[in-house]
Amino acid sequence: MQEIKFLPGVGPKRAELLNKELGIFTFHDLLYYFPYKYVDRTKFYTISEITENLAFVQVIGKISSFEMTGVGAKARLTAILTDSTGSMDLIWFKGIKWVKENLKPGTLFIVFGKPSIFNGRINIVHPELDIPDVSKVTITGSIQAFYNTSEKMKKNYLTSKALLKLQSNLFASLKGTIVETLPEWFVEKIKLISLHNALYSIHFPKDNDQIRKAQYRLKFEELFFIQLKILSLKSNRERKFKGHVYSKIGEYFNTFYYKCLPFEMTEAQKKVIREIRRDMGSGHQMNRLLQGDVGSGKTLVALMCMLIAIDNRTQTCLMAPTEILAFQHYQTISEMLSPLNLSIKLLTGSTPVKARRVIHKELEEGALNILIGTHALIEDKVIFNNLGFVVIDEQHRFGVAQRAKLWQKNTIPPHILVMTATPIPRTLAMTVYGDLDVSIIDELPPGRKPIKTIHFHDNKRKQVYDFIREEIKKGRQVYIVYPLIEESESLDYKNLQDGYEVTSKVFPECKVSMVHGRMKPDEKDQEMRRFKNKESHILVSTTVIEVGVDIPNASVMMIESAERFGLSQLHQLRGRVGRGADQSYCILMSSYKLSSDSTIRLQTMVRTNDGFEISETDLKLRGPGDMEGTQQSGLGFDLKIAQLGKDGEILSYARRVASDIIENDPELASENNFLFKQQLIRMKKSVFNWENIS
Ligand code: ADP
Ligand code: MG
Repeated sequence: MQEIKFLPGVGPKRAELLNKELGIFTFHDLLYYFPYKYVDRTKFYTISEITENLAFVQVIGKISSFEMTGVGAKARLTAILTDSTGSMDLIWFKGIKWVKENLKPGTLFIVFGKPSIFNGRINIVHPELDIPDVSKVTITGSIQAFYNTSEKMKKNYLTSKALLKLQSNLFASLKGTIVETLPEWFVEKIKLISLHNALYSIHFPKDNDQIRKAQYRLKFEELFFIQLKILSLKSNRERKFKGHVYSKIGEYFNTFYYKCLPFEMTEAQKKVIREIRRDMGSGHQMNRLLQGDVGSGKTLVALMCMLIAIDNRTQTCLMAPTEILAFQHYQTISEMLSPLNLSIKLLTGSTPVKARRVIHKELEEGALNILIGTHALIEDKVIFNNLGFVVIDEQHRFGVAQRAKLWQKNTIPPHILVMTATPIPRTLAMTVYGDLDVSIIDELPPGRKPIKTIHFHDNKRKQVYDFIREEIKKGRQVYIVYPLIEESESLDYKNLQDGYEVTSKVFPECKVSMVHGRMKPDEKDQEMRRFKNKESHILVSTTVIEVGVDIPNASVMMIESAERFGLSQLHQLRGRVGRGADQSYCILMSSYKLSSDSTIRLQTMVRTNDGFEISETDLKLRGPGDMEGTQQSGLGFDLKIAQLGKDGEILSYARRVASDIIENDPELASENNFLFKQQLIRMKKSVFNWENIS
C-alpha cells in the first residue's frame, strides 16, 4: 500500500498532519475518507438575489476596490464585489497580505461562502475564490464534497478544499481503475454500481442521484462484509463446537419451581426459559442474548437455567459488571436457593487472598456449584472442574474478548447467556451482538405501575424537596444521583460531597447514605446494605448504582444535572425505581440552558417508559462512529459510511443476503465466493483476532 506522503501535494509535513489528525496513512485510507456533506455548486446567484438566510451562495463578480480598517488583531480587509445587479462586501480578518497581493481588482472571480449581513450590507467573511476556467479542480458548476478537518489542519491550510484537491490528485495518480471487491454476479444481483464508480462519485459526484448510488454501494458493502464475517464465525462455531447436552430437568429445578418460587413467572419468562432449554439440549453450544427492559425479571430466568445446568452435573457462574451488583446477586440468589443446599460463593477483586484460595480449590474439585462475581471470574487462575453454563449480566460492560475467555474455561465450551442492561436497537443487536441468538422478555411482572417522570428546572427545587419529604413520610426511600464525568473528576466528587451536605441539611429528619466509585468495596457494600435494610432514607450517589441494583422500597429517583447523562443511562437509572407495588417517580433536574439533543433526551424520558423506544431514539441521536458498544464490543470494526441509526433497511437486507450465502456455502469454498473469502481474510488481519475464539 502506497504511503500517503508520496501523493503529489502531500509531502512529509502534511503527511504527519493526516496521520495524526485523521488517521490517514495510505492512499487507500484517503480514498476511504468520505465527505460529511455536499454543497450544490451548480447554482449561481446574482448579488441582488442574495439574502442572509441562504446557507451558501456562489456568485460571479469583479472586485472593484479594497479597504483596510483597524490595525493589529483588529485589522480587517474589505473588498467590494460587483456584478450587473449590485454590490456586496468580501471580508478578511486573516491572511490579508496574501489576499492583497494576489487578488487583482478587475478580474472575474467565482465567490463562494456563507452570506451574512453587517451595517445593512450583505457580506461573505473569508470567501472561497476561484478564477473561472483557470482553476484546475473543477469544483464550481458541480456538487462539492466537504470533509471534516481539525483546527490544526486548518491552521496549516489543510482545509476541506485542500483535501478535495488531494482526492483529485489521488485519482489522477491511480493507474487504471480501482479493483472491484465484489464478484461480478453479486454486483449485478444487488444492482450496485462498480467500486471505482462509487469511490469516484462519493468524492466528485455529478448530481444527487449519483451520491445516492455511491452511498448505497459503499454502505451495503460495508454492512454486508460485517454480516458475512459475523455469520461465518457463527456458522463455524455451530458446526465445529459441540455443546454440553442437558438432557433432563432434574431435582433442583423442580424443587425450586414448585417449592421456592415466590411468584408466578410471566409468560415471557417461561417462553425464554423454553428457548434456552431447547438450546441446551441441542448438542450445540448456546450463545444467546437475553434482552428485556429494566425490571422485567431477567435474573430469575438466569437462575432457573443455572439450576438446569446443575441438574446435569455441571458448574455454573454469573458475572456482573460491578461489585455492588455482584454482591446483590450473591445475596438474592443465596437467599432464594437456601432450601436447596447448593454451594454458592462470591468472587470479586476485593475477595481476600485466603478466601480466594478456598474458592479456587473448591472450584477445581467441583465442590462449588455456583460462582458469582465480577471480571475476577475470567482470570486464568480461576479454573473450574466442569463449567457448563455462564451468565453474563448487563453485557454492555463486557466485550467479545472477555466472552471468549469464558469459552475456554472448559474443554467443551460452556453455554453462554448474555443479558443486556436495557433493550438495544435491532440494528445494533444485528451487528454488535450479531453472532448471538436472541430471546426477548417483552412483558413486565404484573402489578407494576408505570413510573411517572417529570422534568424540573432549578427554580422548582423547593417543591421537589417537599414532595420527597412526603414520600419519605410514607415510608419510601429515595435515590439522588449526581453526574460523574471523567474530565473533571475531582470537581464532580466535590459536587457529590456538596450534594450530600445539602441533602443532609434539607432533610435533617432523615438518614442519608452515600456511595461512589472511589470508596473501598466494603464501604460501598456497607452503605448499600444500610439503604437496602431501610436504615437510611436517602442514597446520594454517582452512577455506580446505574445498573442492576434492586431495592423495591425505593420509589423516587432524582437525577441532578440530568442533561449531562446519556439517554440509555437515564433509562437505566430510572429503572432503579418502580420495582415494587408503589407508584414511583423519576425527577429530572436540569439547568435552563439545554442543547437541542439534551432537550430531546429529557422529552423522550418524560414521554415514554419503553426501553425499546428509548434505545432507538438514543441510536438516532448518536452520530456515526459514536456508537456505544461498537468500540467496546471488541469486534474491531468502525463504520466509515453506514449509520446504524439510519441504515436499518440496508443492514437487514445485507444480513439476509450474507445469511443466504453462508447457508449455501459455509466455508465460502466455491469459485463464485472467492472474493468474499479473500475479503474476510483481509478483515481478519486488520481487526481483533476472532479465530482464537471460534
Ligand atoms: P432485570 O430484568 O432488570 O434484571 P430483575 O431480575 O432485577 O430485573 O427483577 C426485578 C424485580 O422483579 C426483582 O425484584 C424480582 O424479584 C422481581 N420479579 C421477577 N420476576 C417476577 C415475576 N414473575 N413476578 C413478580 N416479580 C418478579
Ligand atoms: Mg438485572
